[in-house]
Amino acid sequence: MPRPIQATIHTSALRHNIQRLRLAAPGARVWAIVKANAYGHGIERAFEGLRGADGFAMLDLDEARRVRDLGWRGPILLLEGAFEPRDLELCSRLQLWHVVHHDDQIDWLAMHKTHAPQRVFLKLNSGMNRLGFTPERYRAAYARLAALSQVDEISHMTHFSDADGDKGIAAQWSQFQRATEGLPGERSLCNSAATLRHGMQPDIRGDWVRPGIASYGSSPDFPTHDIKDWGLRPSMTLSSKIIAVNQLEAGGTVGYGSLFTADVPMRTGVVACGYADAYPRHAPTGTPVLVEGVRTRTLGRVSMDMIVVDLTPVPQARCGSEVTLWGCGPNGAILPIDEVAQAAGTVGYELMCALAPRVGVSVDEDADVG
Ligand SMILES: *Cc1c(COP(=O)(O)O)cnc(C)c1O
Repeated sequence: MPRPIQATIHTSALRHNIQRLRLAAPGARVWAIVKANAYGHGIERAFEGLRGADGFAMLDLDEARRVRDLGWRGPILLLEGAFEPRDLELCSRLQLWHVVHHDDQIDWLAMHKTHAPQRVFLKLNSGMNRLGFTPERYRAAYARLAALSQVDEISHMTHFSDADGDKGIAAQWSQFQRATEGLPGERSLCNSAATLRHGMQPDIRGDWVRPGIASYGSSPDFPTHDIKDWGLRPSMTLSSKIIAVNQLEAGGTVGYGSLFTADVPMRTGVVACGYADAYPRHAPTGTPVLVEGVRTRTLGRVSMDMIVVDLTPVPQARCGSEVTLWGCGPNGAILPIDEVAQAAGTVGYELMCALAPRVGVSVDEDADVG
């Protein structure tokens, strides 16, 4: 028997989440964001659940090719655009739309030989200070692009740094309004947090929203809102089994460094899951976990291949009992990835993206997942 740890991708949850995001931004088209191999889900595994979106967006040209290979004929957008001039040849061949965020990319377009003009998304740096033209240089970049025979439609985009937090989007949004005022073209501003929080406002949702993490069933602004608040469902479950049960005496310790000491006698379970499976090593004692669908906690330090859990609330647990590290457990129990991530001082994004190659992944095609 293979080691019992396994990840499951829930097609129906992806489908549900895309629909939920569509309702959050009525009338806007929805990009399914599949960068980082669909946030660790696997593009091929997530595709069926995400194909209700209006387009697919990613960074890697190879990921774009994989989406075309799956038979997707609709829009595909490269969120960082071309990395070198010859990338534009693939854009022409596969009809990829691409972001233009610096002058070199415009130079490359000007030199590119093509019969089919390309659609581009011109990116404004509205304050995040990663990619994009500053507001002062935005219109000049637009004018250069508009003069090129290689360019077809020009859309406008920016990216929010604080859509999930207290600072909010107001300053960046007004930068965007000013920079693009009067220019023709479609608009795209919102990541997951902005889509869920502001998608009902037409001039914020624009023409295309770009929700990544929410489509995978993680709340973009946890713990202010959890997935239940937003009506989202986990699209990835990480599950395993108990492979040993121990009776700990008072004073007994658990794991490397003896970080946990029992103050009363207790039953513990050893779970076949460790940091080499992508379970976060920094998850401390008390990180939530489900055993047979019952919520309990981890004990002591996470090791490479194992963690230890408290079986006190689950007296019926034994070797072979089902353990849910995150996602959907038995009997409709759900452990949001956000809770595990928060305990470990990180975010759901990082946990999903880190799923280790040694973890087998299966696709749950149609079961409804709560
Ligand atoms: C990753 C990404 C998104 C999606 O962000 P989430 O926080 O996952 O919703 C949107 N736009 C751009 C440009 C991105 O790179």
